Parts: sequence; C-alpha cells; structure tokens
Amino acid sequence: MEGKQVWKGLYAESFAQAKKEASQLSESAGIAAEPQGFAAIQPEMPRTANRIPLATAVDTYLEQKSGKSQKTIYQYKRTLNEFFLGSGCRDKEVTFAAWNDIDFDKKTYHVRRKEDVGFTPKSHESRTIPLPDSLIALLRARRKKAPHERWLFINEEGRPDNHFLRKLKRIAKRAGLNCGQCRTVITEGRYEKRKKVEVSCKDRPVCEHFYLHRFRKTCATRWHEAGVPIRTIQNWLGHKSLETTMIYLGVTDSEKLRSNINAAFFD
Ligand SMILES: [Zn+2]
Repeated sequence: MEGKQVWKGLYAESFAQAKKEASQLSESAGIAAEPQGFAAIQPEMPRTANRIPLATAVDTYLEQKSGKSQKTIYQYKRTLNEFFLGSGCRDKEVTFAAWNDIDFDKKTYHVRRKEDVGFTPKSHESRTIPLPDSLIALLRARRKKAPHERWLFINEEGRPDNHFLRKLKRIAKRAGLNCGQCRTVITEGRYEKRKKVEVSCKDRPVCEHFYLHRFRKTCATRWHEAGVPIRTIQNWLGHKSLETTMIYLGVTDSEKLRSNINAAFFD
C-alpha cells in the first residue's frame, strides 16, 4: 500500500487552519464534510450524495470568506502539492519549473537543463511529462496572476522555491499528522554548543512518513494502475534503468503476487 496511500501534506497546514470553520460552513449548508484527518490524507475519496471532500469545503469556505492572503497561501500550497503529485517530479525539477516549460495545449511539462541556474536533470536527460487536467487548471489559474515571469514557484525573496522536504515535515507536524513513533538523531545548537540529540516525531518535525519521494511513488503507482506501460513510466520519471522503475512500483516483489501465483496453479 506504500505508494498507493495518497496524502496532501504540503497543504495540510492550510487544512488545519481552515478545516474547523470549513466543516461548520458545510454543516450550515446542510452538507457534511469528510472527517478532517482522513480527508486531509485522502481527499480524492469518492463523493457521495451528501458528502463533499474537505478540499472542496475549504475552497468554498475561502471563497466566501474573501480572506485574500489565506486563500493565496492555500492555493499556492495546493498547486505546489498537486504539481509534485501530478508530475512525479524530483524536488529540483519542481524548484526549477518554468512557465515556458509548460505546454498548456499539450498539457505537458518539459524538464530541461537550465545552465544559468546550474540545474541539470539527473542522468542529464530532458523529458516531457504529461500532466493531469486538474493540475493544468490549477496552473492556468496561477499563471493569470503569476508572481514571477519565469518560475512557477517562488519563495519570499522571489527566488525559485526550495527546501520542500523541510517545509513538508514542518507542515505535517503542525497539522498533527505525525505518527509519534519515529525517533532520530539530529545536531542542535551553535558553535561549541553543537551536539547530537535524539528527538521524537511526537514534538519535532522529523516524522519519517513524510518525504517527497512519496509523491513521486504515488504518481508512478497511479500511472501504473491506470495501465500506463512500465517503459513509458520509466521515461516520464526520468529513470535510467527499468529496474529502478520496477522497484518503485513494487513489481519485483513476488510475495505480493503470492495469491495470484498460487491461483494460477490451483494451489
Ligand atoms: Zn513519525
């Protein structure tokens, strides 16, 4: 289930901010929002007649609240997160994604080298990744008021946004999504006071369940389950070897197929 579990950590913080009022809003409208924690992790749960995913509730809420800055933050995180999830890109490939790499007609992202900023894709190859319609729609909306003429995602200094992993772990912690079980050693303090300490994900942003490649694996798994051939997935992910792609998808693990294998031989 590793790659299959979908979560939206990058904008979990926005959920945390808005979820309470969002659920009140949907209640007053006579529509029940999905249980918050669950919806934040699996917002693509199927809709039923009387339930709406929390993502939709939050959108509606922010729409009505006309809280501009909050809505901007939320939309930024949502677009960034969907970009990770919908493109399967590595973090540097997201950092250096430029508007002219996006083909809005063909709905693709062209990952290419950018010498002036010292960006070279891993294994030195450029490639073109198809993006889902939902992500294209978010990008179209962002482009209308693009805060930078070249880069899709920028930080407060107007430079390509980065440190996504650290940010993701902080957001997960603040949103109360940490598992509470992880323990890890970090270096703390300055200069001569620097020392190694063991910390827990209970009160620190170090939960191992949150890492960027999880978006990438989830994306690959979705492509795979939608019937995209492994060779094509290898190309979209920019893997040099097919074996890496197979490991990603867990298709080398014959134990997972044990029941199929036995069924094939009537065992
Ligand atoms: Zn943890």
